[in-house]
Amino acid sequence: MAGSWGCPHEANDVCTKVNNLPCDPGMKGCVLYGRFVFANDDKNERLRQKQARRDDAADAAGRAEASAADGMSLPRSVGDDAPAKT
Ligand code: SF4
Repeated sequence: MAGSWGCPHEANDVCTKVNNLPCDPGMKGCVLYGRFVFANDDKNERLRQKQARRDDAADAAGRAEASAADGMSLPRSVGDDAPAKT
């Protein structure tokens, strides 16, 4: 049907990607798992974990930026000051 989505892993209401279990979009192992928000909140755990990791990374980047703006710098790698060999 035009406009609808059909999963290539679904055959006869069975998921060929996840152990031939009945197709349950968003279940663990499904191609949609962790990528979309579902009305059944049990299926949103992975998405929340990914969002939390992104938020943590953004916070860390923000802290590093704030430190640099305050004149504090992050530790540099050994060898940063070494002259380049030509
Ligand atoms: S559970 Fe997900 S991957 Fe499996 S057939 Fe259904 S929509 Fe496709």
